[in-house]
Amino acid sequence: MSLLEVENLAVRYGASQALFDVSLTLGEGEVLALLGRNGMGKTTTIKAICRMLPLAGGSVRFAGQEMSRLPSHRAARLGVGLVPEGRRCFPNLTVLENLTAAARPGHWDAARVGALFPRLTERADQMAATLSGGEQQMLAIARALMTNPRLLILDEATEGLAPIVRQEIWAAIGTLKEQTGLSILLVDKSLSELKRLADRAVILQRGASVWSGAFAALDHTTSARYIGV
Ligand code: ATP
Repeated sequence: MSLLEVENLAVRYGASQALFDVSLTLGEGEVLALLGRNGMGKTTTIKAICRMLPLAGGSVRFAGQEMSRLPSHRAARLGVGLVPEGRRCFPNLTVLENLTAAARPGHWDAARVGALFPRLTERADQMAATLSGGEQQMLAIARALMTNPRLLILDEATEGLAPIVRQEIWAAIGTLKEQTGLSILLVDKSLSELKRLADRAVILQRGASVWSGAFAALDHTTSARYIGV
């Protein structure tokens, strides 16, 4: 049994349907890349998995439990940790306060996330609003880890960041994979970085999953056709 099983997912925004038929599975300890051109439904799929959107059809099962009708806080409690697009933190709380506000019991605490992102330790007492974009992204990932998730979902975690900061974020995700065996779902534009980290990929086109397989099996013809590279 996979940790996450998404079957025939359909989602509507009012009258317009964004997802028609998305299916994917993610195993324990696996890193899965969710790929597709802009507007194909990646963020909507993630929001549906995190139960932030009602389903018009299909199902989401996590750790053997049917989540399709659960509210988002229940999904979080079951172990789905999201780093949303746009890295939302509490701007008027310090770094440390942001971390402790997210904390749930488990093996991740402020010291351990501080070891993963030393910059956050250095800036523990600084207001989140005054952090650089990269530091805010690190804080957003650290906050998700503080919830002690079984699945970490990262939506465009490196978007809009300087190359050197991107490398820090990718290195941290690599460390998570190697040292903790955390299950990770990634959306990102950098195929070369995903290739290094992801075990498998699922490609979305117009709200449907049209390809899935080992990332290494993703050939040039397929990526040219569905991703545009
Ligand atoms: P991107 O890479 O640009 O973020 P994406 O693959 O994540 O794209 P989604 O953001 O999931 O795609 O969007 C899928 C479709 O749903 C698009 O047609 C988009 O315009 C539409 N959509 C997304 N959010 C909303 C919303 N709040 N209301 C109405 N339509 C929406």
